[in-house]
Amino acid sequence: MSVDRSTIWPYRDGEPGDFYYQRDAHPTGVEAERELGRLDGGHALLFPSGAGATTAAALAFLGPGETIALAEGAYFGTGLTFGELERWGLRVVEFDQTGPPPDGADLVWLEAPSNPLLTMPDLEAAAAHPARVLVDATAATPVYLRPLERGADFVLHSATKYLAGHDDAQLGVVVCRREEDAARLHELRTRTGIVAAPDPCFLLLRGLKTLELRIRRQTETATALAQRLAGHPAVESVRYPGFGGLLSFDVAGAGEARQVETSLRLITNATSLGGVDSVLEARARWEPHRVPAGLLRLSVGLEPLDALWADLENALDSC
Ligand code: PLP
Repeated sequence: MSVDRSTIWPYRDGEPGDFYYQRDAHPTGVEAERELGRLDGGHALLFPSGAGATTAAALAFLGPGETIALAEGAYFGTGLTFGELERWGLRVVEFDQTGPPPDGADLVWLEAPSNPLLTMPDLEAAAAHPARVLVDATAATPVYLRPLERGADFVLHSATKYLAGHDDAQLGVVVCRREEDAARLHELRTRTGIVAAPDPCFLLLRGLKTLELRIRRQTETATALAQRLAGHPAVESVRYPGFGGLLSFDVAGAGEARQVETSLRLITNATSLGGVDSVLEARARWEPHRVPAGLLRLSVGLEPLDALWADLENALDSC
């Protein structure tokens, strides 16, 4: 495995080969896509971020006047991305993904589990809907959920998170069940230039080698932390779906949340999730209308359980 940073490759006997211009395809990206396709059981295409993957999927598979049924509580940035596309005629309706999607939708957009409220979608109800179904499985990862086997047409990941896993590569991926959908998405990607560069793809390939190990360890630690957090007097509620490294919990309000954020020593007070280092933040700074002021999102990394708990307990005791 090495990075090929070329933007051009020579024609052979006057004809372009598999690789001829980086915007169309490059060897590092194709190798990473092969691995991602294997993990999710479909045809994968990489994009320069999760938001880029979201934009490309909407542009490729929907047109003006068509409707996305978006899971309430899905990553708030996904709603912002669609808000940009509403200016071009896309319609967006939100619905409770724990039940059936609304009539009239042309694409159903689920998130498993949703970030940061950690609800799980009713995949069976969505598969029974006539519209095509996309599942953003960023937080579940293919280790815990393979939506294409459960009737979904597309899976999307912010590969910036668990798949790359080290907070040093920004990428997104769409995995298609049908080859013809992947061909259309590839065509749109080349034409619009929403393309991932070779270097982050190389970091993704390296991260994928430890994906399963990381996720299983993060699950073990997150499960234990969720239990301990639920027993702390400063914690009002804990949300954890029982798998993966992401959880959220509530303290009394904004002041207590800030106190926890600024008292941590081991856990980094930062945004994002899915890396080997634990990070925590109060989500109300980004999405104040949607989440409680005291909601803290914790992405559990690979540090020892007892060191993480000591850091959290110390911060919570100071509330
Ligand atoms: N989907 C989910 C569930 C996310 O949490 C995020 C980012 O936080 C995205 C999509 C967007 O990904 P990116 O930040 O790589 O653009």
